[in-house]
Amino acid sequence: MGLVNAKEMLSKAKAGHYAVGHFNLNNMESVRAFLLAAQQVQSPIILGVSGGTAKYMGGYRTIADMVSDFMDFLEITVPVCLHVDHGTFEEALSAIEGGFSSVMFDGSKYSIEENVEKTKYIVGLCRDRNISVEAEVGAIGGEEDGHIAMGECADPKECRAIADLGVDMLAAGIGNIHGKYPADWKGLNFDVLAAIQRETKDLPLVLHGGSGIPDEMVKKAIELGVCKVNVNTECQLAFAEATREYIEEGKDQQGKGFTPRAMLAPGLEATKKKCIEKMELFGSIGKA
Ligand SMILES: [Zn+2]
Repeated sequence: MGLVNAKEMLSKAKAGHYAVGHFNLNNMESVRAFLLAAQQVQSPIILGVSGGTAKYMGGYRTIADMVSDFMDFLEITVPVCLHVDHGTFEEALSAIEGGFSSVMFDGSKYSIEENVEKTKYIVGLCRDRNISVEAEVGAIGGEEDGHIAMGECADPKECRAIADLGVDMLAAGIGNIHGKYPADWKGLNFDVLAAIQRETKDLPLVLHGGSGIPDEMVKKAIELGVCKVNVNTECQLAFAEATREYIEEGKDQQGKGFTPRAMLAPGLEATKKKCIEKMELFGSIGKA
């Protein structure tokens, strides 16, 4: 099976009250790790690509070809969606050209009027190509200049204006934050989440900043309509920790332990393990 868009996997998740994990690619090892994890536990998966990763890994076309070829090579049979994460308008356009099956256009930095205009254009392009679209309303918090802000909450009416354009999924700030969460974080705002879901009918909602939100809050968000959860930082931390252990134990100085494949193997395994752990939490195991 080739790449699929996110429509069917998300509507199934919505009906089945679970969520599909979105895991960010960073390099070739992460492609292997996530594909093998999804296949092993028979879960659908969404692979996310940020602008930085696109530049690092040779552009959208290279990544789309690499993921498709890996799927053939590894005999992956579960549904795999290749998705742009927080795409600018230009990035969304290059990913559409490059063969991605899904795009996120993040227009949250624009006024709601301009966000609506640009999202509408992307939706029109994607409809003809059977590509799914994620939009964003209300910026999601995160670390900026060393200051970590409480995530902001989206206006449910603005969410409706974007939902009515025919997007397939919507990311809305509900107090979530990218990266590590501060100790005094106030948690997710479930009242806002419920209000957004009411305004947007049954539109699949996306929870960004899924690294470090307590499991119980993630489960409650899924009950309230979230059916895609983005995870990046936790997988990166798992990779870093396993790699550090390998070096600290001096394994790179034993035999052929210095080869790049050997050095990256523990990180790859740790990424795979973390991914499966998240799929278990989201309830997507066995849902392929
Ligand atoms: Zn995000």
